[in-house]
Formats: sequence, C-alpha cells, structure tokens
Amino acid sequence: MSFPSPFLSRRWQRLAAHGFPQQQIRRFRQFLRKTHHALLQRTNPRLFARELGWSEAYTLDFLTAAVAEGICALEWEAYCPVCGDLLQRARHLEQLHSHLRCESCHNETDLLLDEEVTPRVSLRRLFPPPGDTAARRSDLDAALGRLPAVAWVSRPLFRQLLGEEVLPPNRSLGIGHLAVFFSDLKESTRLYRSLGDARAYALVRRHFALIEAEVENEGGSVVKTIGDGMMGVFTDNARALRAMLRSVQAIHRLNEEEELETQERLRLKVGLHAGPCIIVTLNRRLDYFGSTVNIAARLSGIADGDEILVSDSLLDHAETQKIIAPYHCREEREVALRGLEKAVNICRLKPLTATGAG
Ligand SMILES: [Zn+2]
Repeated sequence: MSFPSPFLSRRWQRLAAHGFPQQQIRRFRQFLRKTHHALLQRTNPRLFARELGWSEAYTLDFLTAAVAEGICALEWEAYCPVCGDLLQRARHLEQLHSHLRCESCHNETDLLLDEEVTPRVSLRRLFPPPGDTAARRSDLDAALGRLPAVAWVSRPLFRQLLGEEVLPPNRSLGIGHLAVFFSDLKESTRLYRSLGDARAYALVRRHFALIEAEVENEGGSVVKTIGDGMMGVFTDNARALRAMLRSVQAIHRLNEEEELETQERLRLKVGLHAGPCIIVTLNRRLDYFGSTVNIAARLSGIADGDEILVSDSLLDHAETQKIIAPYHCREEREVALRGLEKAVNICRLKPLTATGAG
C-alpha cells in the first residue's frame, strides 16, 4: 500500500477545482486502488460508470478533468466496421487518418467519430501499458458496448478542457449522425422593453439554465449560446426530441411561476434536424459545421413561439413517432429554407397542445 505523493495530491486537489465533490474524488481513488492494474489500461470508459454507479455523462466529465490534470491518459482507437479489427490507435484525434484501409478484410473506410472511433482510458502512471490488452478490451466491449468518440467529445467540459488538444485548427473530422438543435426566443426585444433590461436578462439566464438541464438530462450537450438563443447536439434522436419538448414545457412553467403577462412571456422557438456534420476547432473550442447545422438553425428561425420545427430526419422511427404522438403536430412538405438548396419536410410540433385539444 503506497501513500500518494504530494505531487499526485495536488493533481487530485485540482479535480475538486473543476467542481467535483471530495466524496466522489475519494470514491474514484478507492476504485483505482482496489482495481487490478490490467483493468486500468486502455479500458472502456463505461467500466468506470458501471463500477462507480455514475451516469455516463457524469463519468465522462470526471474522466475529462482526470485527463486534463494528468491522472488519466486518453487514446483513440479506430475499428474496421466490417471485420472489427483495430485499424489505428492514436493519442490525439488529429493523428487518426480520415481514410483507413483494413489489412485483414481490405475494406476501405472514411472515418466517422460516431461509428469507427472509440476512446480508451488508462491510469497515467500505468501508461503506456507494458503488454497487450486486446483480449480484456474486447470482453469489456462486448459487455458494455464501445463508447462512440462523439459522445465524449461533444460534452461541454471536454470541449472546454481538451478540445484544442484533440483537434488542432484547420483539421476537421466527420460525424455520421448527430441531432442538432437551435433555440431562440420569439420577440425577445419586446420582452426586454416590457420587463426592463435587468429583469428580462435575469429571465433569459434562467431560461438558458432550464434548457441546459433538460439537454444534460437526456445526454446531450449545449455547444454555445448566441444572443438569446442556444445551440446543442445529441447523438440520439429520441433523446433530442424529448429534451426539446421538455424545454418548451419548462419555459412555459417559468412563465406561469413568474405570473408573466401574455406579451411578457418567454416563448421558445426550436429547430431540430439530424444528419452528418463535421467537427472542427474554432476559437479554441470544438464546434460543429455542415448543412445539418445550417438546416437546424434555419428551422429555429422560422419556428413560431412555443413550437418545435422537427425535420423528418428525426421522425422516421417508431420511437420518435411515439414521443410526438400526444402533441399537436402539423406536417409541412417541401419547405424551402433560405440559402439552402434542398427543401425539407417538417412537423410543426406544439408541446403545449395535446392532440384532440387543438
Ligand atoms: Zn476489416
């Protein structure tokens, strides 16, 4: 049994500075102490979530801070989508080749962060692992499923602490599927005029916090705020849709609690679209680009208050159909969006109006 060196101890103290409670830091350390070294080398991050009983989101944030403070080391592995062989391993995302050829099955792959790439975590002082860890890794992967890289890199804390490290400016990586939302407030200038700047600003901040809570609750992440609007991403369509429904309902409750007059009410306009996009580093943070992002932004622009404009990219599954079934929803086909070539089919979803009532 060895005692932590003062050096290590400072690193652990800095974990607390990232907002993690001492109690959880202690639990994490205890887990590292009692766990066999072999399990702490190039392991599936989901192992930590399972063993510590933490949510995946919380675990990934904790590991982000642990990597930033040099307690853990992070690597990325790309696997062949056809035969499952390891294609490449890298310390930084930038080192992954965007096009890979499999030696075993000769399949050629354009690398996507949500499909072929998965993160591996090692305890820093056991890194690099002395032996081959492949057998144990595939057992854990079979039991827990590989974590898609995009699920981690889209976490706000990851983007903040490790964004620049993993992807330098002028490099981009593809994501095969991401649900992107933009929100805005309808007639927010009227809100500021009616309530006064200070009160309106306080309400706008509360509305940001409410949306962020719903987004985090469904495993998504807020990428940025733009004026009174917000942008965020999800790897899962159904969870994106649920978070947006609940956001509109949460803002409605805020209006009720504050007993706001009709013209003073905060009314959320949301655009939601899913598809491929690219991730790049901009202003030292990871950000998302591509037509999927542009369409989501345009949809938010033409949404009415208390309304979600959902494109049909999210509505072709039984699960998302079931989520929207209780609410009033009007379909519009071939809607042209400014600056975009392709028209989209959308649903105007009213999360405050039940079907049959409207
Ligand atoms: Zn292969």
